[in-house]
Amino acid sequence: MKAIRFHEFGGTEVLKFEDVADPKIRKDQVLVRVKACALNHLDLFIRKGLPGVKLPHINGSDVAGDIAEVGEYITDLKVGQRVLLAPMTFCGYCTACTTGQQNFCPQFTVLGYLNDGANCEYIAVPRVNVLPIPDELTYDEAASVPLVFVTAWHMLVSRSHIKPGNTVLVLGGGSGVGSAAIQICKLFNARVIATGGDEAKLEQSRELGADFVINHYQQKIGDEVKKITNKGMCDIVFEHVGKATWAESMKSLKPGGSLVTCGATTGPDASFDIRFLFARQLSFLGSFMGTMGDFHEVMKHIFSGELKAVVDKSFPLREAAAAHQRLEKSEQFGKVILNP
Ligand SMILES: [Zn+2]
Repeated sequence: MKAIRFHEFGGTEVLKFEDVADPKIRKDQVLVRVKACALNHLDLFIRKGLPGVKLPHINGSDVAGDIAEVGEYITDLKVGQRVLLAPMTFCGYCTACTTGQQNFCPQFTVLGYLNDGANCEYIAVPRVNVLPIPDELTYDEAASVPLVFVTAWHMLVSRSHIKPGNTVLVLGGGSGVGSAAIQICKLFNARVIATGGDEAKLEQSRELGADFVINHYQQKIGDEVKKITNKGMCDIVFEHVGKATWAESMKSLKPGGSLVTCGATTGPDASFDIRFLFARQLSFLGSFMGTMGDFHEVMKHIFSGELKAVVDKSFPLREAAAAHQRLEKSEQFGKVILNP
């Protein structure tokens, strides 16, 4: 089969469109013909080099396609069914897995991170990862949802316990995870303040339901939040930007508020005043992907149409380098897709 694979870490020039061996399924696995695979910032980080990644490597965490072959032990799926994949792998038998906390499994990883992903024509996965999709959902839409919606749901619902009436600051509303977060906040009748880097992205955040927007290049986030909330500030700050916005994110919290983060796209180093943390009784919450419970819960809302995939642009698989560049330059609103 054809795949985008890299044999060394580096810039987009390391992405090679080449022939690799077709995957063979075990008796408890399903073979999926990949129709769409969405990019994430993780793909860029892995391409540049992350510890634990073995070379050569095939990226790709967010997958939609058709079932091409079903293992002997699987009786409830058929060849030809349209499906999307849970974007995670885990052992399935440890205490964490069997109590529904797969993201605490010692073997937990994002699909396509420490194992090969789906920037290719076929992928073999365990039955547990496979979820049939409704006819009205396109492959591009289906591939756009798993990782960002599971991540945002875990952050807002499972970790921050979002409630109706909360005010939530969503950093980078134009990003995949940010556009998922805006929609989940509105599903919970929360008030959303979204930030973005240009007028087009701010307008798109408004269209997704953001009540207020802040241009994070031209305005001070903390000052704007103060004006918008009449000094009430935010119950939850939804972070994934890291170093560039950390100080302003902290300033935007109300006493007792929670800052929840799943990433540090602009850099991992941040400092803060410990007195601020205890005197204001703030909570800092780390969040990594989500559980299979989060996955099934959020997908119900996708399939019912209450939450919507945000597709930016799709590229043929062989043009993966151009797709990486689009994400790298932050030109996208929503998900960038590869079509094998
Ligand atoms: Zn486990």
